[in-house]
Amino acid sequence: MTSSTEKLTNTATAPESLTAEYLPLGQKRIIPESEHQIPRQRLDDNAMKVVYRLHDAGYDSFLVGGCIRDLLLGEKPKDFDVATSAHPEEAVELFHRGRLIGRRFKLLHVRFGRELIEVATFRAGHDSEDNDDGEQGRQAASGLILRDNVYGTIEEDALRRDFTVNALYYCAKDYSIYDFANGYPDLQKKIIRMIGDPEQRFREDPVRMLRAARFAAKLGFEIDAETAKPIHQLSSLLARIAPARLFDESLKLLQSGYGAAAFRQMQRFDLFRYLFPLTHAQLDDSEWPTATLVQHVLKNTDRRLEQGKSVTPAFMFAALLWYPLYERYLQLLDDEDMPPLQALHEAANQVLSAQVKATAIPRRFSAPMREIWELQLRLPRYHGKRAEQLITHPRFRAAYDLILLRESSGEDLKGLGKWWTDYQQANDSQRHGMQRNSATDEQPQKRRRKRRKPITRSHD
Ligand code: ATP
Ligand code: MG
Repeated sequence: MTSSTEKLTNTATAPESLTAEYLPLGQKRIIPESEHQIPRQRLDDNAMKVVYRLHDAGYDSFLVGGCIRDLLLGEKPKDFDVATSAHPEEAVELFHRGRLIGRRFKLLHVRFGRELIEVATFRAGHDSEDNDDGEQGRQAASGLILRDNVYGTIEEDALRRDFTVNALYYCAKDYSIYDFANGYPDLQKKIIRMIGDPEQRFREDPVRMLRAARFAAKLGFEIDAETAKPIHQLSSLLARIAPARLFDESLKLLQSGYGAAAFRQMQRFDLFRYLFPLTHAQLDDSEWPTATLVQHVLKNTDRRLEQGKSVTPAFMFAALLWYPLYERYLQLLDDEDMPPLQALHEAANQVLSAQVKATAIPRRFSAPMREIWELQLRLPRYHGKRAEQLITHPRFRAAYDLILLRESSGEDLKGLGKWWTDYQQANDSQRHGMQRNSATDEQPQKRRRKRRKPITRSHD
């Protein structure tokens, strides 16, 4: 962290003039470089090239949004976005690596190797990513914005953004920041505040409720009381959002390094149920260790990301849905008298088809999810030569991790996790011995006829 960010994250030492004064919405405040102290070398070279090219062609252009917020907090921005007065068709002319995308509103993508800079024309009105029904600026009776392709001024562009801290513009001409919505003082006070009337803005785009929870978790900020107030009551509007968009949001919430905190924020506003309805339904059921498993999965994911390890949506979704799946599996075994693997496949079908109504899971993730689930039945049967084969399965590692998580959530798997831990650490001859011993332990699998009792929680 630089000294400037220490200053910014510590309200006690923040300049009096900036924290005390809130200007009317839309009124410009200029924060000079001497004040905000973002080191110039932290600005992305490619994004600056784009900004300067637009300037040289006579257009206004700024770095905007999350990147400026994150730079002020001393964090590394995920990506850099540019806002400009140039219309997309004008802007695209300036870049040979530029490509126009989007039907509802056009954006320019400028590619530099693996880096992509997104250039958007200043717009009036508000965002809703969800609908595409042909008209400009139409609004449904519910308040949901159906289409919005109206270009506007920089002030209008600032006011259609969601939260004040997301509406800061960096001017590359004099290195100052333009603030039209009191984002700068809110950032110093660590407040997530909706621009404009919170209820109206949440109705326009209910995903903003998830975004409020996400930024509070990611930044460790408080959600302003007026902004927080309508969320609980409006939460059911999330049921109308396209499942593909909710899938994307669920990854941003739960797989970006602050999943445990994001879950707490979602629970506070009762939002998690719209992303994971089946999991949510089990959270308060003392028969299932679901609540503990969810905590452990999310903490684990956060820890892995912190250590620079990879994470995959397939594992997270497989884990979060494991107990809903297992509950159905047991029902099918009992009620339909199905063989175990068939019951598992049927339960997987049922759980996935319910889940994709909330969050659309692409097949490249749902296929490995099924494998991870199936391996939960196969890993306990490591006898004879099976262990050797199982360990080479492409999903072995994920399935083993889920076994460990289930055990740490209070499920008694009779030392299964430890057996596999030992097996992985053993050399060839030790493995041989482990398999021989286990072969003699093998019990013929007897089908149970009577109704199974769900797993009872044996955790805190
Ligand atoms: P992250 O670090 O997660 O990328 P971000 O603030 O950059 O955070 P994005 O989703 O990349 O978030 O969006 C970029 C900017 O676009 C936001 O900072 C905000 O100004 C605006 N924006 C995005 N989604 C919405 C929305 N649903 N409603 C209003 N403004 C939005
Ligand atoms: Mg962003």
